[in-house]
Amino acid sequence: MKLYSTNDKSNIVSLKEAVFKSLPKDRGLYMPTEIPKLSDGFIKNLPKYSFQAIAFEVAKTLIGSSIPEEDLYAIIENSITFPAPVVHLDKHISILELFHGPSLAFKDFGARFMAQLMSYLRNEKDKKLTILVATSGDTGGAVAAGFHKTKGVEVIILYPSGRVSGLQEKQLTTLGENITAIEVKGTFDDCQAMVKTAFLDQDLNDKFDLSSANSINIARLIPQSFYYFEGYKQLPDDGLNTVFCIPSGNFGNLTAGLIAKKMGLPVHQFIAATNINDAVPQYLASGIFTPHPSYETISNAMDVGSPSNFQRMMDIYCSTWNSIIKDVWGYKCDDESTQKHIIKMLENYNYIIDPHGAVGYAAAIAYLEKKPNSKVSILETAHPAKFTDAMKDALAGKTKQIDIPERLAILIEKPKKSIIIENNYDFFKEFLLAR
Ligand SMILES: *Cc1c(COP(=O)(O)O)cnc(C)c1O
Repeated sequence: MKLYSTNDKSNIVSLKEAVFKSLPKDRGLYMPTEIPKLSDGFIKNLPKYSFQAIAFEVAKTLIGSSIPEEDLYAIIENSITFPAPVVHLDKHISILELFHGPSLAFKDFGARFMAQLMSYLRNEKDKKLTILVATSGDTGGAVAAGFHKTKGVEVIILYPSGRVSGLQEKQLTTLGENITAIEVKGTFDDCQAMVKTAFLDQDLNDKFDLSSANSINIARLIPQSFYYFEGYKQLPDDGLNTVFCIPSGNFGNLTAGLIAKKMGLPVHQFIAATNINDAVPQYLASGIFTPHPSYETISNAMDVGSPSNFQRMMDIYCSTWNSIIKDVWGYKCDDESTQKHIIKMLENYNYIIDPHGAVGYAAAIAYLEKKPNSKVSILETAHPAKFTDAMKDALAGKTKQIDIPERLAILIEKPKKSIIIENNYDFFKEFLLAR
């Protein structure tokens, strides 16, 4: 597998370089130079394969000879360790549940695969790898769980003190061992600025092999294509067009779906569902892309005003609006409508959907009104137990309530361990150098 930068297709790198560098210097994003098709036989026979077998076949086709088959199989075996079940609600609507991983969000797929791939691609003689990551909530939990106990890798997570939910904080601060949580007396942007400064700091680069677990790393994108095949496998062959609806922020999840389609998965269309951070739905409607500062909403993991993976989507469609609108349909949903659709989902199907999934549900209903000859599978990107505050109003007075999964309940009991630092880069640097 070779990759180019979306800003310069002559800038070609190996998988290893793309994974460890994360971002090309020219501010593009890495994309595979080729997206090969899977055989028709494989697609027809999907129901005969396990999730791991599907993931292996897709990974092998994309990655090719960069990794020997038995090694790649081991990477898949250690990263695809939880299911992605489809819940059928009626003839036209189903839910693809992506929250069965350790941190209860779809980001577990990307983070686990990246951890396995990075530890495989390192050389034994390499310095210990230090991963720095700033988080506003979900990413940190997935990365911490993904890299926990990975040999030769330490993870340092920076998060804004008092600004992540109690459960999210526990996910960052209770694992210990090779995971260190730093609580910064500042905002998420301050944390991100410290990480960026650290990457450019010569003293730190001399001492450590620094890498990022950034969401635009290609290693997080590849495994996200696996579950589209797994989801498709579970849908009935009923003559209706297959549509996936993706609640989106940075658009990595949707981009992985577009890659799955390019590899031959017979998806009729994708729905790009957003909250009021709607740069992509606006582009799809008008042909004009206008990124903006992000607005806060109750589906906060999707509060992205300037989605990075838009570059990759454009790359797949050769920057042609006429082509992308054939495959992707956009819809935006405000907080009021999100709340309404949490309730509607509960009343119609006795199913509790989280605020991100509810944005998807609103979009799916709008789509089905226009194109009734479809079945829409909504990607449920996180477990509702992660967002109990945002869901309190919608669930008040209802008999059905959120079941807190055991792995989350256990965390509540565990003691938090973090290192509190002032919002000052020099403190952070001193801390790192003293290790
Ligand atoms: C990260 C996240 C999203 C957005 O995914 P993108 O790939 O950035 O579009 C949606 N929902 C949840 C719960 C998330 O954590």
